[in-house]
Amino acid sequence: MSSFVVALDVGGTSMKGGLVTRSGEIIHIDRRTTPRDRGPAAVVATIRSFIDDLATAGGGTPAGVGLAVPGLVTADAALYSANIGWRDVPATDFVPLDVPVMLGHDVRTGGLAESVLGAGRELSDFLFLPIGTGIAGAVILHGEPYGGSAGWGGEIGHIPVFPEGEPCACGQIGCLETYASASAVARRYSARATSSTAPASPVTVPSTSPVTATAEQVAALTASGDPLAMEIWGEAVEALSLALATYTLLLDPSAIVLGGGLAEAGPLLSVPLAERLGERLAFRDAPPLRQAALGMSAGMLGAALLGWRAAGFADAGANWSPDVLKSPRVA
Ligand SMILES: [Zn+2]
Repeated sequence: MSSFVVALDVGGTSMKGGLVTRSGEIIHIDRRTTPRDRGPAAVVATIRSFIDDLATAGGGTPAGVGLAVPGLVTADAALYSANIGWRDVPATDFVPLDVPVMLGHDVRTGGLAESVLGAGRELSDFLFLPIGTGIAGAVILHGEPYGGSAGWGGEIGHIPVFPEGEPCACGQIGCLETYASASAVARRYSARATSSTAPASPVTVPSTSPVTATAEQVAALTASGDPLAMEIWGEAVEALSLALATYTLLLDPSAIVLGGGLAEAGPLLSVPLAERLGERLAFRDAPPLRQAALGMSAGMLGAALLGWRAAGFADAGANWSPDVLKSPRVA
């Protein structure tokens, strides 16, 4: 039995790969660009050669391969990804070697890592909520991510929170993601700031250039008391509190683990969100909000767990002691 697995976290723009030992030591790490613009077949070919190169760096055949990929995913196949464009790719097509392989949905794989190694280590039931370009959730039940009947589970970003609200790219109206993702916060602030500085008369050609702010900048403006930023930030908090109240009432999580770019704002997000969530719930306490512990490594560490599970070690991660237990309870 080889001493390492290949773990790969495939994102829409880049992929992160590593070699991880049976005791959880990351012995090698590397990154590649996801050639999405060259089509799904090119992405699969890049994954194959990346796995080959990683195995070579390890000096032998890995015990298994774990892959975290976006879209609709089962353990044996990547069924669909709007982002990358592939359909029905068997897990074995990604791997140029004759070794066991297991696929996982990207967010659920990150949630698995938070469950086994990170902020949810001692929790049985929680929600892992990465808030980045989009919002997706990993529903963790009894320590394991739950994908639902067909793999569509956890799409909390597309829960309608303001039914008469703004259209979402998904085709629905008023989705959480439309108000509270990092890109939504940036987009909504920029649009509002641009229109408020434009000349009042519609016949005048606007002399002002469009405002473009990042979510990070909106967070900083919110912290400094900028009224428009505070309004946009407050609407994001409002939207999140609505979706999380629904989640809490339905599944009674012991915590909500916030991850992704927007969670980097820390108490600026978690304090008002905890307060608003608490106000919404009348007959029960709100679950505590925690900060995710593994950051951008969650997907790759989760893929390593899948790789070792594929190799026959169902208890992978139980004896790992990465420095991930420092997750503070942030609110
Ligand atoms: Zn949507």
